[in-house]
Amino acid sequence: MRLSKIKLAGFKSFVDPTTIPFPSNLVGVVGPNGCGKSNVIDAVRWVMGESSASRLRGDSLTDVIFNGSSSRKPIGAASVELLFDNTETTLEGQYANYAEIGIRREVSRDGVSNYYLNGTRCRRKDITGVFLGTGLGPRSYSIIEQGMISRLIEAKPEEMRVFIEEAAGISKYKERRRETSNR
Ligand code: ATP
Ligand code: MG
Repeated sequence: MRLSKIKLAGFKSFVDPTTIPFPSNLVGVVGPNGCGKSNVIDAVRWVMGESSASRLRGDSLTDVIFNGSSSRKPIGAASVELLFDNTETTLEGQYANYAEIGIRREVSRDGVSNYYLNGTRCRRKDITGVFLGTGLGPRSYSIIEQGMISRLIEAKPEEMRVFIEEAAGISKYKERRRETSNR
């Protein structure tokens, strides 16, 4: 499974609908300070279910919506979709047969946030469930942001364990066990 495209609209500085293609396994995003490079990564973590405003570099969850500039008015909603090519290395289980997997999140100014999996409305849990154990997730090691290496070095053993369990592919079983014992 490989990220092939990100579609953004109304998300942070990406006010107009924008498609960012990732045509190969190695892509560099370059540009001057403040042009929106980190906003692209924020968009990826947001769709995957990040629910902490500060981790998205804002004060509230609606801060991800374009809030206006010197030449444009604020708008009412933000939407981001990640498209994954699932033809080469595929996800296991129920998603194995999909050639493309699209996950989308939308939020409006009233704070209502909706998730979609291949166009069908779903829960946040369904989105995190697709990627659990793959290393991709709002806080997993596939996104190494500024300060993360020192956080890992300074992590307490139980925090470090969360990363190791995700890398070992066992976090999805632990999550299922937790859900079963909560029932
Ligand atoms: P650097 O090279 O300094 O790391 P960068 O390319 O990573 O810069 P970002 O942090 O991605 O830049 O983008 C910052 C820009 O995004 C700022 O100009 C900021 O005004 C704009 N921005 C962030 N949130 C919003 C929002 N909700 N509405 C409009 N613009 C926003
Ligand atoms: Mg940046």
